[in-house]
Amino acid sequence: MDLSSVIDSESAAHPAVRILDDLLRIQSVNPHYEEEARGERDVADYVEERMRKAGLQVTRQPVVDGRDNIIAELRVGKPESALLFEAHMDTVSIGSMENALIPNYREGRLYGRGACDTKGALAGMIHMMERCAQHPEHLNADLIFCASVDEEYAFRGLTTFMSLHLPLSGAVVGEPTELGIVVEHKGCARFTVQTYGKSAHSSVPHKGENAINAMMDVVRYIHERVEPGLATTKSALCGKPTIVVSTINGGSQINIVPEACEISVDRRIVPGESPEQVLSEFERDLRAELSQTRLTIEPLLLDPALNTPHDAAVVRSAKQAAATLGLNSSLRGVTYGSNASKLQAWSGIPSIVYGPGSIEQAHSAEEWVPVNEVVQAAEFYYQLACSYKGNQEESS
Ligand SMILES: [Zn+2]
Repeated sequence: MDLSSVIDSESAAHPAVRILDDLLRIQSVNPHYEEEARGERDVADYVEERMRKAGLQVTRQPVVDGRDNIIAELRVGKPESALLFEAHMDTVSIGSMENALIPNYREGRLYGRGACDTKGALAGMIHMMERCAQHPEHLNADLIFCASVDEEYAFRGLTTFMSLHLPLSGAVVGEPTELGIVVEHKGCARFTVQTYGKSAHSSVPHKGENAINAMMDVVRYIHERVEPGLATTKSALCGKPTIVVSTINGGSQINIVPEACEISVDRRIVPGESPEQVLSEFERDLRAELSQTRLTIEPLLLDPALNTPHDAAVVRSAKQAAATLGLNSSLRGVTYGSNASKLQAWSGIPSIVYGPGSIEQAHSAEEWVPVNEVVQAAEFYYQLACSYKGNQEESS
């Protein structure tokens, strides 16, 4: 008998995997990406029903266009050490993925849109809340679970949740980390640069000013001066910052000297950098370098990096929980962004990212998650929820 199939069927029977199976059948494509997108509505109904059945206090929090966060609370009289579990309900578009809404088990993997990003983590958290609701006497901290909307576009679910200002002493954000405890990740400053000239007939170009030529100076400055300078900044867990000029548009017609040109720039920041500061320094230096050039700069997205103190209570408890379960307890950094950095940077809530599956399979035509990792992540969330005491450890 093939041992792996026995292990697979055992894992597949785990309640977290049954929940994931349900979630994969429910389309929850972010409406930003597709005409036929259903949004998070149906997944929200599913999560809400399960949380109510578990006897938890549930709030349906409107965010935008009928899209609601589901917030479930398990209060045990320890609000000062409340721990948040958060995972998003939306997925990217189905795209070219085949049978994206029919869970398919193959060689220990479960395929489906959202399997690793991030319904595997969501399922584990749902299961953890249900288990904790049965035995609240095991808890040393209040638990709050937020299934959020719109992470894949503008993270409006998380920002709306944060507007509640619930006291929190730590947070666990579910994203695919291959069961690594992520305490650092990159953020970004995305912006556009516009240069301006003066239009003229292209047969008499000396009567105009060429905005594309002006932009060439900007692009050369970024490539030859800014890019090499980034090599000196380095984070131990996330590597170096990067900068990419990713689009360029200019001119209107072949026989007109262009009066405007625009580029968009994606500058990835590392822990220790702030996106606002990175952008303002870039602007200051660019204007100093090209003082004769007429230009403007518009921010598009300023997303902080995750930089959680390695000795925060949630990090220590996470390491302990992983060690107890025989899982990898080392701390990691990743290059992609998540809701955790907003919790950490904007509200000072020490946050980690943890979940089954790899970012390599996220957003791809072949999205899958290892079934055993779904089980292990669910067990990790439960272990962490039960053992977490916030900052009470120090005083007791
Ligand atoms: Zn995600």
